Amino acid sequence: MAEATPGPGAMLRPRVIRTRTDLRAALATAPRPIGLVPTMGALHEGHASLIRRARAESATVVATIFVNPRQFNETADFERYPRDEASDLAIAGEAGVDIVFIPTVEEVYPAGFQTTVRVGALTEPLEGAARPGHLEGVTTVVAILLCLVGAERAYFGQKDAQQLLVVRRMALDLGIATEILACPIVREPDGLAMSSRNMRLTPEQRAAAPVLRASLLAARAAYEAGEKDGEALRAAIREVLAAEPLAVPEYVSCADPVTLRELARVEGPALLSLAVRFGSVRLIDNDPLP
Ligand code: AMP
Repeated sequence: MAEATPGPGAMLRPRVIRTRTDLRAALATAPRPIGLVPTMGALHEGHASLIRRARAESATVVATIFVNPRQFNETADFERYPRDEASDLAIAGEAGVDIVFIPTVEEVYPAGFQTTVRVGALTEPLEGAARPGHLEGVTTVVAILLCLVGAERAYFGQKDAQQLLVVRRMALDLGIATEILACPIVREPDGLAMSSRNMRLTPEQRAAAPVLRASLLAARAAYEAGEKDGEALRAAIREVLAAEPLAVPEYVSCADPVTLRELARVEGPALLSLAVRFGSVRLIDNDPLP
């Protein structure tokens, strides 16, 4: 009897690889181009959208799942970060991943590890100022993953806008050949940007969390009505946030989308962004103008 082949929509379990050696061996013969999607797991529709884009543009899709201790500036946040390998494999398979690299900390950072990749001025404001060491942890792990996989393309979400800029800068500076591609933010129906941290919100906090998006939309509306003063646009965001007692703003920004320096006036493209705490859960969002 012929072996059953999976029909359309059937779930294929991706191949799981846990060591650098096995990854190198598997990729030596993998069809090219390779598309890479780095993640920290707890996969949701935002990650799936990156994977589907990679699937459409690659012969082999590699996703990585690694909760990177070096990019957590708070130990409690690292310890509480959601982990669910079975669910991740189901979502990754459904979205079209061929290979999932799930290394241990020792596999990513071999014994005696002492290399740090640090990008300059771009990492100073916003997330860099609010989370010391975070972006350095990101660039260090992403550099390792880009080197290990040697993909033609790697896919990152616009949700982490500064991370995307910093990773692009790093790849350019270090001569890493992988093309860094940006994918749009995927949102819940009520506008909340999907995030693995959303599941840690209480029902009350979850109900309040769309205020991030609402505040950005208020600033966009002011901008579209002719407001070009950077501080007035930041104030428009703060005003909406202030009406939500559960939301504690960490920063509110209207910055140059290339340098991330705060703008006094918006005369060209700009990036509105913010970080807000709901209890111990920290959420970010952004909106590029125009
Ligand atoms: P993370 O697992 O949070 O490190 O995210 C892995 C990748 O998925 C990063 O490039 C994120 O920017 C991206 N990502 C996370 N959430 C979303 C979202 N809601 N929409 C689009 N991309 C996202």
